[in-house]
Amino acid sequence: MSAIPEHTDPLFEPSAAGRVLITGGAGFVGSALCARMASQGAEIHVLDDLSSGRAERLEGLGVNLHSLDVSCEDAVAEVLLREGPFDVMFHLAARVGVRTVLADPEGARRVNEDVATGLLKALRVLPSAERPRLFAASSSEVYGDSSAALEECSPLRSVNGSGRWAYAASKVRAERALDAARELWPRGAGPVHLRFFNVVGPGQDSAAGFVLPRFVEAALKGAPLNVHGDGSAVRTFAHVDEVAKTLSLMATHPAVPEGPINVGGVARASVLELADTVSEISPQTLRVNLVDPRDELGELFEEVSVRVPSLERLAALGCGVPTMGLREIVADTFARHAGFMSSAVGRESCESRVS
Ligand code: NAD
Repeated sequence: MSAIPEHTDPLFEPSAAGRVLITGGAGFVGSALCARMASQGAEIHVLDDLSSGRAERLEGLGVNLHSLDVSCEDAVAEVLLREGPFDVMFHLAARVGVRTVLADPEGARRVNEDVATGLLKALRVLPSAERPRLFAASSSEVYGDSSAALEECSPLRSVNGSGRWAYAASKVRAERALDAARELWPRGAGPVHLRFFNVVGPGQDSAAGFVLPRFVEAALKGAPLNVHGDGSAVRTFAHVDEVAKTLSLMATHPAVPEGPINVGGVARASVLELADTVSEISPQTLRVNLVDPRDELGELFEEVSVRVPSLERLAALGCGVPTMGLREIVADTFARHAGFMSSAVGRESCESRVS
């Protein structure tokens, strides 16, 4: 197994990891972040209702898991008061994945807004000196269509989006709700919106509709890779362990500016190229089928043809930009994904097993 590249020579001196609260920490991104920060000696508390997350992902990490719904502000406030103060909070809890969202768009919209407002209400209970810096997961889905690299100031989708766009609308609304509460933090140190672009890697949930685990699971069975449409949709992919490393550096950065920041990688590819890469890495010969996504995801589905980030703001911050190439990401996912499927093992980071 290869170590994750040392892309990050921070432009600042990272300090001790401290005490960290992570909502949605039993999820795909959250558990990678837990592994990363636990390896740096952080004391970690996770708030997760385990609706899509799994407690097994946190086994052996020494993480304190509080199984609760983040939209219940009283339950969140109780943990904050009892276990705090925390230095940093990552808010990652959400209902995620195109298949999950299309199965119940209104439910996803409600959950994603409610977790943001529940968290804010709980944070208001704390004395201001004890309020942690807040990094909240947003999404590249918030951006309107553009074939150019998306900058943080690019136009956003409507807050009233429904159906296919309910998830995007929920994330735009959550950003606005958090911005409206900026006065809870010192000037300039309000919430940071992490606009993730296709974070992938071993252990991601194929059932939620994510493309790489879907392809890898098919490949492991020797089944055809079903590519939606003509496969020309373009994305950039970032390895979850590199993203976790970047986030962990943000946690100890002395001055991350409030507001949005794109978090993604440089592995740009069409979905057909992604399928071809999985196929090349697989020891078996695989067929690639072009299928109508509406057969699988229903009539509400609409494709976004190109979604790639500008990473200038992330690069300028000095917390590292994920640099893994497509082949390396796919190879690592191929090598390690089956371990997450077949047994409930804790996450093993690219760098080291964390115990
Ligand atoms: P995930 O589904 O693996 O993790 C989400 C976690 O939130 C799960 O552990 C789930 O149990 C928990 N959760 C959901 N509702 C909750 C609630 N009401 N109370 C408490 N916990 C709750 O998804 P992920 O891929 O790890 O995504 C993490 C965050 O990043 C999400 O906010 C998502 O919108 C955002 N994001 C991810 C990607 C990506 O490529 N993975 C892209 C864009 C944005």
